[in-house]
Amino acid sequence: MAPEAVAAMAKCLTLEGDFANPASLQHGFGERAHALIEEARSDIAQILKCKAGDLVFTSGATEANNLAIKGIALAYQNKGTHIITSATEHKAVLDTCKYLEGLGFTVTYLRPDHQGIISLDAVLAALTDQTLLVSLMHVNNETGVIQAIDAIAHALKDKDLFFHVDAAQSAGKLTIDLTQTPIDLLSISAHKLYGPKGIGCLYLRNRKQTRLAPLMQGGGQEYGLRPGTLPTHQIVGMATAFKMAHDLMSRDYQHCQHLAQLLTTQLRQLDGVQFNGDQVNKLPNILNVSFADVGADSLLIALRDQLAIASGSACNTGTIEASHVLRGMGIEGDRLYGAVRISLGRYTTVADIQQAGRQICTAVTHLRQLALE
Ligand SMILES: *Cc1c(COP(=O)(O)O)cnc(C)c1O
Repeated sequence: MAPEAVAAMAKCLTLEGDFANPASLQHGFGERAHALIEEARSDIAQILKCKAGDLVFTSGATEANNLAIKGIALAYQNKGTHIITSATEHKAVLDTCKYLEGLGFTVTYLRPDHQGIISLDAVLAALTDQTLLVSLMHVNNETGVIQAIDAIAHALKDKDLFFHVDAAQSAGKLTIDLTQTPIDLLSISAHKLYGPKGIGCLYLRNRKQTRLAPLMQGGGQEYGLRPGTLPTHQIVGMATAFKMAHDLMSRDYQHCQHLAQLLTTQLRQLDGVQFNGDQVNKLPNILNVSFADVGADSLLIALRDQLAIASGSACNTGTIEASHVLRGMGIEGDRLYGAVRISLGRYTTVADIQQAGRQICTAVTHLRQLALE
């Protein structure tokens, strides 16, 4: 986490700080906690260029995706029962769509090209008169590939449907301007932008006019769309981190680009190195790479005490299974089973990257030699 976000959170947890229940407006302590939350909401809204009243705090992007997709599907099922998404979405979208299939909805899972890009034509070709919702991610969490969300949003603008974007990987890293891009629902997660885990939000355009079936019933917080006591510290931590990420956006980008170039050059000294995903339309903080004749599982075991890298995403808890994202892109065989995902960030140093590059090269070379013996 950004140390600034940790410090802002700490002030909401102590007796001297603003620890009170933000829904307790009958006393000044609660009122101050409430004011902090509304300040955070308007800070986030300012970055996204949307109305503060169109933001609903959730426990993260998983919940925001669930609320968006189930919320629209269940509230508007009389209007349409067809959903369009892609095969390379996060499981929070894919599994929510699968759940809705069980309730009678029809889902089209678009296949991207080999570089991971979903074409606008494919989206338009999949539309039917039953299409209620299109849900696509902005940036893929395993490859860093960026989708043409702005063009897709404009193409869908005059259609009678909702467009949801999972922006967990792009918020704070790419500009999202909701006055310019006609997105109806947008999911964000704080821990992907140096904020705390367990908090995120859903943007809902024209919240007051749009129906959304809540996932839970309770105390009426967040306009009844997400009841439960609001965690002041989490929300303040998220807003602090998001403001920083917004201010530092181009610096962070250039820093990651520089590190990615260094690491790429180092890894290319090995034979049989393939980078997965479009290498132009991508964010520099995620590298997805396969090494010929080396399985990702043995490479990760060799490096497990030195490097925090993974195959696929952290979300497919525990299991070593081939990435559904790379599979969805039509990647097979050694390249699929050998893929590892490396991420870099604001706090990664040149020295870290040089060391990581050496460690990966040594491990790959060693595993290849073992295979020959
Ligand atoms: C991390 C992530 C999520 C889930 O977010 P949580 O806040 O961890 O629930 C959803 N979508 C994408 C693209 C992600 O990277």
